[in-house]
Amino acid sequence: MSGSGDMVSRRGLLRTAGGVAVAGALAKLSVACARAESGAGASPDPPTPVKLPRLMAPTERESELMPAPLAPDKRVGYAIVGLGRLSLEEILPAFGHCKYSRPTALVSGDAQKAAQVAGQYGIDPKSVYSYETFDRLKDNKAVDIVYIVLPNSMHREYTIRAAQAGKHVLCEKPMANTSAECVEMIDACKKASRKLMVAYRLQYEPHHREMIRLCRAKEIGPIKTIMAVNAQHQGDPNQWRLKKALAGGGALPDIGIYCLNAARYLTGEEPIEVLGSAYSTPDDPRFREVDETVDFFLRFPSGARAVCSTSYSCHQSKRFRVMGPEGWAEMDPAFPYHGLRMRVSRKMKDSPIEDASERKLQEKNHFALEMDHLSQCVLRDRPAHTPGEEGLQDMRLIEAIYTSAREGRPVKLEPVQGLDVFRGPPPEPGA
Ligand code: NAD
Repeated sequence: MSGSGDMVSRRGLLRTAGGVAVAGALAKLSVACARAESGAGASPDPPTPVKLPRLMAPTERESELMPAPLAPDKRVGYAIVGLGRLSLEEILPAFGHCKYSRPTALVSGDAQKAAQVAGQYGIDPKSVYSYETFDRLKDNKAVDIVYIVLPNSMHREYTIRAAQAGKHVLCEKPMANTSAECVEMIDACKKASRKLMVAYRLQYEPHHREMIRLCRAKEIGPIKTIMAVNAQHQGDPNQWRLKKALAGGGALPDIGIYCLNAARYLTGEEPIEVLGSAYSTPDDPRFREVDETVDFFLRFPSGARAVCSTSYSCHQSKRFRVMGPEGWAEMDPAFPYHGLRMRVSRKMKDSPIEDASERKLQEKNHFALEMDHLSQCVLRDRPAHTPGEEGLQDMRLIEAIYTSAREGRPVKLEPVQGLDVFRGPPPEPGA
């Protein structure tokens, strides 16, 4: 996994010292020292929640686990790179929901905007950087993690520069424009012994975690078919998302990736064959360089299949349904930031009644969950659940889908043995 270079020496130590306790104690010590050096000084142990007696009857839903936040000055510090829509509308406000993470620096090409945002979030004006002064982050002890929220083609450069500045990296999806760039990013973070996580927010979100649990527990029988759609109607023809050099592709790497990633985490498997078909309306100025619509099909080793469609020219439609011999489970909507809904349908045992019901879970901020996950991984020196390898695998599959669409043939892929091969340990419940 990314950033696990230091784990090798730790394993060696374990063998020579001959004791888990010794290695464990040293691991904790090294993390604590690293934190103390970085100026944050937090303990790697999670804070203990306050306990209160239960108030409601057992028939009522349990209240949420009591939060156990770190004091603000002990939290893991983030530099946010790129102050566009996602940073300003979602990521910076999400720090208000975090327990282990805080914004400590900004990087932007617009000094005036950055100063205004720094003021709004209590960020030291001395911790505001431009793209030219980015490398000075190296000397900022309040920054542990650099969160890259730039156009896709810039992810590679800023991930590598962040690793070279000694910082861990959280990188937005898609991880880069090509799989070769992803490999360079992983290598740079490994070389610097820094963690690299791709911001697949939905893999930390409670409805999607419940969906994964349900699928793995075979509550609807073994998965036979997944049908997934992610579409939205893209406007301004001048936006970077429609420029191949900046975006890498069109609907597929930007929003189709949600269908692709979901099919992989719901099954836990990796496709052995893909088939793709791409279409762009002739003369539509938005789609001169990138795909408008891509339909794709994935075949998994167990026999499960995913039928997916993504488009930049259909009104918002963001959902999936997982089908098995004993029932189906769906999310509609599945991919937005808010208002996710999950339904499951199965025939009741010894009854002709089909039970289709909603599974209600408390909504949580996706970005706070993903950032707090990485913060905990840094504090406790654990591998991230969605490391660089997870982003690389999506990129390899996107390239295979484009090849299939271009050449008009199915593309076979080397079988990958095992489940969740490119993922680290799952996020802790309630974290
Ligand atoms: P945006 O266009 O709103 O913001 C991009 C930022 O990059 C802007 O501040 C812009 O000034 C800056 N920038 C620097 N150099 C640039 C250049 N050469 N061209 C254009 N902009 C440049 O984009 P966004 O919606 O914030 O997306 C940023 C990243 O986040 C993308 O990788 C995108 O795929 C990802 N994203 C993820 C999610 C999610 O749910 N995880 C949602 C939206 C976007």
